[in-house]
Amino acid sequence: MKTVEPATSASFSTAQTGRSVRSYCQGMLPLTAKLEPWIAELCQSTILPELAQKQGSPLNVLNTQPFERNAKALYDVAEAQGLEFDVYFARKANKCLAFVETAKNQGYGVDTASIQELQQVLDNQVPPEKIICTAAVKSEALLRLCIKSGVTIAVDHLDELMQIVILAEQLKQRADIAVRLSGFQHQGARLLSRFGFDLDEIRPLIEDLQNASPHCLQYLNLIGVHFHLDGYCQAQRVSAIQQLLPLIDELRSRDFPVRFLDIGGGFPMSYLESETEWDTFWQTHRRALLGEHRPLTYRNHGLGLTLVEGTLIGKPNCYPYYQSPVQANWLEGILTSECEAGTIADSLRKRQIQLRCEPGRSLLDGCGFTAARVEFRKQQPTGDWLIGLSMNRTQCRTSSDDFLVDPLLIPATEESLLPRTPAGISGYLVGAYCTESELLCLRKLQFPHGVGIGDLIVFPNTAGYFMHFLESRSHQFPLAQNVVYDNDTNQAELDSVETYL
Ligand SMILES: *Cc1c(COP(=O)(O)O)cnc(C)c1O
Repeated sequence: MKTVEPATSASFSTAQTGRSVRSYCQGMLPLTAKLEPWIAELCQSTILPELAQKQGSPLNVLNTQPFERNAKALYDVAEAQGLEFDVYFARKANKCLAFVETAKNQGYGVDTASIQELQQVLDNQVPPEKIICTAAVKSEALLRLCIKSGVTIAVDHLDELMQIVILAEQLKQRADIAVRLSGFQHQGARLLSRFGFDLDEIRPLIEDLQNASPHCLQYLNLIGVHFHLDGYCQAQRVSAIQQLLPLIDELRSRDFPVRFLDIGGGFPMSYLESETEWDTFWQTHRRALLGEHRPLTYRNHGLGLTLVEGTLIGKPNCYPYYQSPVQANWLEGILTSECEAGTIADSLRKRQIQLRCEPGRSLLDGCGFTAARVEFRKQQPTGDWLIGLSMNRTQCRTSSDDFLVDPLLIPATEESLLPRTPAGISGYLVGAYCTESELLCLRKLQFPHGVGIGDLIVFPNTAGYFMHFLESRSHQFPLAQNVVYDNDTNQAELDSVETYL
């Protein structure tokens, strides 16, 4: 790994002025970010501007300490319930190998979603029994790699299953597989999905295999049952588990060595400190769309809501940036839900089945931020300012309409070519793609102390999906660099995933 020269952690402008790190930029209305201490400290040191200067803009900064804390909280909850339990980190949520390394060292598993992700995890000596492959589309080469290396395959459909049988026969090996299920009954409706075998089709399929094609089964070790649901609903997970327990019993009675139940990811997290701010934002945004309040978003963008004949239709197309319960508490809620004569945990314990999960985003809570340099400020005829950053919208984006978390502004330490804007301006962050829609944040932001060229804008808590999920090289812009920061040593080094890119 290339080492980036660290600077001493000297006090910086925020310390000099006594202003808090949040005071330079707030949303209109504010959505105050939860800030990990390491992020707040780094934003007030001289290290960050030097890193940004050296590595270019934008820059992703990562830290694995919160990752360990977040995972440990899950293990603690499961252990308190007396369960055999393992976390398989869904690494598609962040490409950096620092998290794979931490998972390996701490004995967590890794969930891989492509042949590249899998190959890197194998290259980094993660034991194959600690790897699952849940790729949505699996090439022959990927299936072959899984079988050869002993990685468990989460099987999605019959074509995949039959290809695995043929490849395993060719390789003279047995494939470890988990069947992915969907179509659970929940509150009188079915949870339909593009993924997995339908719960109603799996029993006849297994019977068929046992009766008509028993030779197929000698190439398969069916060791697990798997689901991953859209959304963040606890009760849906409870329904899914309840409906899979009888299937597990039946598979075991048919001599399949089912060892684990994998409940996938989608563990919720919060990005914001205040539920009140979140509720107030949405109430006021609705009023703005109805014309009863000044707009909070660029050209009154609906964020998923549309005004039709005087009423708002649709639902917010945004992550629930504030929610409760989250993470380990959310898991505990599932495990203590009623099931059979006791709780879900009782039912799992009684069956001596290992519980597995595959969180991505929520394990990365607090593990990273994205910093970008201000290159221009310009005032629109409307009076609003546009703040141009060396960054494009794919570098802090998911399928969500907007990143509803207030960025931080870190004033430049060096004198720039042009003076700062006046204090108290407000406006929008715009990015480097040549489209009218290229906004980095749709929300209007306020800058009480103005904005200068060379200031840094920091998007907090972007490690889960935001920094990597949609990044693109349109316009031939290079991808952002990723540095891993160790707040014990103040060292920052480039993540080793760079060697694969
Ligand atoms: C994406 C994905 C995950 C991780 O989901 P998060 O919302 O990041 O926790 C886990 N399992 C599967 C199969 C996935 O596709």
